[in-house]
Amino acid sequence: MPRISKKKRIEISEKSSEKPAKKSQKESQKLQSGEASLILRVAKLWGSPEGTVEKHEIDQRLVFDPKEVDAASNFQADVMLIKLKDEITVLISNANIKVNFLCSRCLKPFKKEITIDAAEREFLSKKPSKLDDLADFYFIDTKAFTIDLADMIRQEIILHFPFNLVCSNSCRGLCSSCGTDRNKKACKCKQENPDTYLPFKNLKNLLQ
Ligand SMILES: [Zn+2]
Ligand SMILES: [Zn+2]
Repeated sequence: MPRISKKKRIEISEKSSEKPAKKSQKESQKLQSGEASLILRVAKLWGSPEGTVEKHEIDQRLVFDPKEVDAASNFQADVMLIKLKDEITVLISNANIKVNFLCSRCLKPFKKEITIDAAEREFLSKKPSKLDDLADFYFIDTKAFTIDLADMIRQEIILHFPFNLVCSNSCRGLCSSCGTDRNKKACKCKQENPDTYLPFKNLKNLLQ
């Protein structure tokens, strides 16, 4: 039976001897660079018996490269860490984050909540002997005894992007001829009606 430790909130702020002004400057540089990090300390867990489980609640601002994930809210999730022989298994559940998108039809920005029911990754303590699929693994920083969940979260958010990136299913989009926002007004251009738009209708003639 795994030993379940009490849920604890993640400490976001790092202890630092730097002056506050200097620190905020450093932080803003980090925000600009888009290199999100979500560091968990795992020294205690790593020293625990196999099967030990540790739970965390995450509610944190993560700043990714906005070209990939333009976060519009904190990332919230339940995280469970399981200590195994040469790794820590990370299970993320009940995760959600609002993300800024551009509508693929009308090009207007819109926000959408991405939810991740469950995701799992292994964080290894050493490189596996087979190096084929190294990209699929993450590693424990065995000097600082930390793991960084940011890239796992970034991948999962992207995997859960909606298939249709539209501001609304009824969005009429921009006219492909004159650029008019057809949500606001109609234009006089002939629209390609899906019922009459038959791109291969002349193919038969060409083949004769
Ligand atoms: Zn739209
Ligand atoms: Zn038009």
